[in-house]
Amino acid sequence: MDKILIRGLTVSACHGVHGYEKTTPQKFIFDCDLYKDLTLAAQTDELENTVNYSAVCNAVAGLAKGNTFDLIEKLAYEAAYKILESFAVERADVTVYKPEAPVKHPFENVGVSMSAEWTTCFLSLGSSVGDKKNFLDTAVKKLEKTRGIRVEKVSSYIKTEPYGGVAQNEFLNCAVKIKTFLNPQRLLLEINRIEAECGRVRAVRWDDRTLDIDIIFFGDKIINDENLTVPHREYFKRDFVLVPLKEIAPDFVCPLKKRRISEL
Ligand code: ATP
Ligand code: CA
Ligand code: CA
Repeated sequence: MDKILIRGLTVSACHGVHGYEKTTPQKFIFDCDLYKDLTLAAQTDELENTVNYSAVCNAVAGLAKGNTFDLIEKLAYEAAYKILESFAVERADVTVYKPEAPVKHPFENVGVSMSAEWTTCFLSLGSSVGDKKNFLDTAVKKLEKTRGIRVEKVSSYIKTEPYGGVAQNEFLNCAVKIKTFLNPQRLLLEINRIEAECGRVRAVRWDDRTLDIDIIFFGDKIINDENLTVPHREYFKRDFVLVPLKEIAPDFVCPLKKRRISEL
């Protein structure tokens, strides 16, 4: 993908684990790679179709000067997040150098690089007790308010029969398309938080619940962690997942099945 490059942005700021580093400014140097399709900017020759690198430099310098972190890892990560939140770019790679770091030997430089990017994900939401519509509405609002998540589309809410032979009540289900720059495990933590805030008590799998949020797809990633399987293990067997998903993403191709949602 096309890139906008910033090299050698130099800021005097206070970051480091030593006490004096928190009060005596030293030099931090940023290199940033911003990934964005620049075709339109190149064709139109108009600033509004690209990212203003001067504004990015102000944002990064402001972040570095306005905070005090122990680690340049934190500084690089916050800078990458700030860029993704504030500018229309798909991915940000940020390198922070600390040439005056407290090292007892002659050295040229030390630094770290961090990357963050927007990924399109699909979630399946379900509720089977209490005010079901309100739980789904609340979950969508809470997703929207979460740092690093943008809600792009919400399907209609559909009534479905209980699944798995444990739950007794009718469910209300929907699918949600989000963009996120959180990694999959962080997204799972945020989802678990939102479930808990909506009164979810984790007892028996498939039992009635105020709110269940499952990650169906995380871009085209295939994940087999102990606590997280993506694409969701059973989604393609479940009409209550497929029907709302098809409404908002008929052409999304499952990275496992290699087929469009509308064909499943
Ligand atoms: P099912 O996953 O079959 O729909 P469930 O949603 O009722 O069942 P839960 O009790 O909500 O199951 O979750 C059990 C565990 O599943 C969670 O603690 C979570 O770590 C794990 N898990 C694995 N893959 C996923 C995924 N793709 N999305 C959400 N949770 C997942
Ligand atoms: Ca589920
Ligand atoms: Ca679940």
